Amino acid sequence: MGPVIDYLLASLVVISIVLAGANYLAYRLFERPRHALMWAVAFSLAALQYLINLLREALPSNDFYWQSANMVSFALVLFALWGHSERLRLHTDWRNLLACFAGLSLLSAVFILWVPMDNLRTALAPGFACLAMIHIALALVRSTREPRLAQVVAAVIHLLFGLTQGLAAAIALNLNSDAREQMVQLYTAVNFGLMPTLFIALGISVIFLLATDLASRLSTMALVDSLTGLNNRRGYMQATEGLWARCRRADKPLSLMIADLDYFKRINDRYGHSMGDRALQHFARILRESVRVEDALGRIGGEEFAVTFGEMSSAEAEAIALRFRAALARQPLRFGSVELELRASFGIAEWRDKDDLASLLKRADVALYDAKAAGRDVVMVSGARSLVGMASNG
Ligand code: GH3
Ligand code: MG
Ligand code: MG
Repeated sequence: MGPVIDYLLASLVVISIVLAGANYLAYRLFERPRHALMWAVAFSLAALQYLINLLREALPSNDFYWQSANMVSFALVLFALWGHSERLRLHTDWRNLLACFAGLSLLSAVFILWVPMDNLRTALAPGFACLAMIHIALALVRSTREPRLAQVVAAVIHLLFGLTQGLAAAIALNLNSDAREQMVQLYTAVNFGLMPTLFIALGISVIFLLATDLASRLSTMALVDSLTGLNNRRGYMQATEGLWARCRRADKPLSLMIADLDYFKRINDRYGHSMGDRALQHFARILRESVRVEDALGRIGGEEFAVTFGEMSSAEAEAIALRFRAALARQPLRFGSVELELRASFGIAEWRDKDDLASLLKRADVALYDAKAAGRDVVMVSGARSLVGMASNG
């Protein structure tokens, strides 16, 4: 092979090592996703494969070159496939992959050593890579996992790479034909022209997948409370703004409720902070079960939760608060020998024309304060003259 191809192969060794390193860094730095580690192994094997190609003349024999190059290629494709199936949670059994590797390696040995067939020996690795890449591309497009764009980009590049491998395999199968000279030229063009370009694109698409996965995880984390899994204050505000805009456009009412656990500090003091945490989770679970999925729900403070009810008057919101209050009384928190009855106070406000979100929250908060002042375990509606909810206060 000419020196130009040697330079190309040497560059590809370096590029593969860089891609392997980037995947390994992603594994180490971002909560150790297993698929990043598998892709790091796949790119390391790619580096090894390009190195075998580069050092071809120095290897003990031509047969040794073909068998080792084929085996490294099978392994690298299987690791790439394994990584994608892990990421998409398709759960591939590693024993099946190992069996696949053993079967392909045996087949390769047959075509190299026992029934030598140059075209099959050469076509085996790109043929398998073609099938595997198309499989990955289909899995990526079919997946409902977010983010879509990064997956579609990766799918297209895997598909193109797979088709190029398929082309290389098809040419290899025709190497013994009359037009051998042209076939060798074509094979070289595909292998050293098209393939390296798509290989690099594929490496970048994989890094892009890891980066967008991380970005979407971070943006979720910024809006969700890790203890209860509900929206945090920011997530709740965002969800409420959406509901608010919808109700305004449709000229429908909107109500907001703040719930605050009664004497919560005593639970912490008496049973410890982790019991307090359990009480918050218990409270959050019952609250989630009491509201509709379209309502905005969140933990907006330590032991303070808020719900925004779209298309609902304060009277309807009050009925839900009373239902929630009853559910809370019915379902004490049980942990070990401890049985804790949780109580909460509620403040509700309905949106008025001059309200903005801050003033609506403020009015619900004042109602909550009134509920606390009225002795707790009470539902209070802003602007209502009587102590609403006191009647049903058992
Ligand atoms: P009130 O009936 O007036 O609402 O009294 P309270 O004891 O419920 O309210 P207070 O504001 O006095 O105390 C709230 C406590 O909530 C104090 C704080 O240590 C605790 N807290 C806040 N966040 C957490 C948390 O994430 N976990 C636990 N275990 N406790 C928390
Ligand atoms: Mg409290
Ligand atoms: Mg409080």
